[in-house]
Amino acid sequence: MQFREIMCGIVGYTGERRACPVIIKGLQRLEYRGYDSAGVAVCQENGALNVYKCKGKVSDLERHLEGKDSSGTIGIGHTRWATHGEPNDVNAHPHLSRSGNLALIHNGIIENFRVLRDALRSHGFTFRSSTDSEVLVNLIEFVRESENCSLEDAVRIALKQVVGAYAIALIEKGNTTRIVAARKSSPMAIGIGDGEYFLSSDAASIIDYTQSFVYLKDGEVAVIEKGKPLHITNLEGREAPVSIQKLNLSISQLEKGGFDHFMLKEIHEQPDTLGDCIRGRVIPETREIVLSGVLENKERFLKARRIIFVACGTSWHAALIGEHLIENMCRIPVEVEYASEFRYRDPIIYPDDVIIAVSQSGETADTLAAVEIARSAGAFVYGICNVVGSSIARGTDSGTYIHVGPEIGVASTKAFTGQVTVMTMLALLVGRLKGTVDSGYYHRVAQAVLELPSTIRKALETAGQVAALARTFTYAHNFIYLGRGYNYPTALEGALKLKEISYIHAEGLPAAEMKHGPIALIDAEMPTVAIATLDATYEKTLSNIEEIKARGGKIIAVVSDGDELVRRSADYCIEVPSTVECLMPLVSIIPLQLLAYYIATYKGRNVDQPRNLAKSVTVE
Ligand code: GLU
Repeated sequence: MQFREIMCGIVGYTGERRACPVIIKGLQRLEYRGYDSAGVAVCQENGALNVYKCKGKVSDLERHLEGKDSSGTIGIGHTRWATHGEPNDVNAHPHLSRSGNLALIHNGIIENFRVLRDALRSHGFTFRSSTDSEVLVNLIEFVRESENCSLEDAVRIALKQVVGAYAIALIEKGNTTRIVAARKSSPMAIGIGDGEYFLSSDAASIIDYTQSFVYLKDGEVAVIEKGKPLHITNLEGREAPVSIQKLNLSISQLEKGGFDHFMLKEIHEQPDTLGDCIRGRVIPETREIVLSGVLENKERFLKARRIIFVACGTSWHAALIGEHLIENMCRIPVEVEYASEFRYRDPIIYPDDVIIAVSQSGETADTLAAVEIARSAGAFVYGICNVVGSSIARGTDSGTYIHVGPEIGVASTKAFTGQVTVMTMLALLVGRLKGTVDSGYYHRVAQAVLELPSTIRKALETAGQVAALARTFTYAHNFIYLGRGYNYPTALEGALKLKEISYIHAEGLPAAEMKHGPIALIDAEMPTVAIATLDATYEKTLSNIEEIKARGGKIIAVVSDGDELVRRSADYCIEVPSTVECLMPLVSIIPLQLLAYYIATYKGRNVDQPRNLAKSVTVE
């Protein structure tokens, strides 16, 4: 079974029970994922279609439902993690079609929603929300009206026009028995009961009711009708086999997608999350880069006197890589500032500066304050955030979401790789617009970005080896992490991961700095993690490794596949796949995330909630 559940939750029911309590219970089971709003649609016995939804938690939805009529025996419910439009009551799902006849819930992203929305507008449709999902429900209604066909046919025809990822479920006014559901790249399971059906994006959420499931496959459409056999077809309308599977997993196992911790799940999700981050932004056929936040503000980037990154923690490390990327490809001078230092220093900011604020949560207090200072100085402020509608996303002039789904583990992993990927696309695009990046290099890097999901998947194959290695080093009290060039920030980030979750002191350094002082620390008790992949500074890093070796230090080296030279000096080598040099941090960070994770778990640490740390630092 594949566990890929980065978007939020879907639950549905059709049968003899009251649908709403079943749905609420299912949504509660999905709460651990992190979400921003919740809602249900119920078709009443008299055929009325009622929608209740609000920003906030499932408990807020429960309060909102008090005293309202939600007694029907068919319904769909949703927890939303906003990707299009800020979290608010209107953008929450379910979404009704123009006529109010259809209610839809959607997990995922409709990439071509703008084109579809414009086409629907030309047919007189208007939209209440800013979501891509509302476009889809109206597209389905439009098809149904113009083709005069069944709901499932309309779903099929509409989905053929959709580019993106989705799990959807629809119910309609006047139909008290039937749910239509479909999926592509987003999970969806149908629970089989006795004359009743359950629906969920994660089978675990309905395990209280049934252990028998049919997992919808990509491109399948299901008609789920109380008291009737399940009917599944593909997008062409051809009948698909219905295969029922028994679920023998405990709820606690499933909640983390089969992983012991959210952090490990999030580490392993990175091929998929980077796929989501890149989707629709690097066009595979032409390798053209479409970042609307940059394209709509082209002049600000082209005329930038300087780019200043403001960030904290892991985002600051990502920004250091961003500095290399932008200076290299755009030839614009870049500074990287700790937001907390920047804001209190009375910084010099010119109106033709571009400030890039980087924050996973979009709520980091110091970064937000830096954004405000930069805006009041008249600079153009760009945000790179994960959480849609967050304060930084709202407080910047423009920006790009990293779209890696909710990050629950306190130690950031997939957000870091998402941030660096966005910075790479940004640097490539601005470099191309400025003419500072040559076409051959541009295409090589863009192609490597497209291949990132498979490259990262290969890098994750080091997990077994890293886990074994971690055992050997569980008792170390200090670590040094070394890297050069693009991989110097990777060393900082690797050291930070170890500190955060294992509480072992670790220091990241540019490898050549060792001999200017820190090498005095080296002895048999001070292991060094050296990133020595094949790049412009490979030979130099090799010499740095020799210097440490000569002083009795133990070396764990992250090397390129098939490396021979480092192996001669290092005590342990972790081989990672190669890609273009500027993307190597994304590859070499993978074993370092895993190393921190395994050392911390062997030490019995609370990996997902390390002591003294909070996920979103909203205090100064
Ligand atoms: N793209 C949709 C939205 O922004 C669905 C997000 C989700 O998967 O929760 O509303």
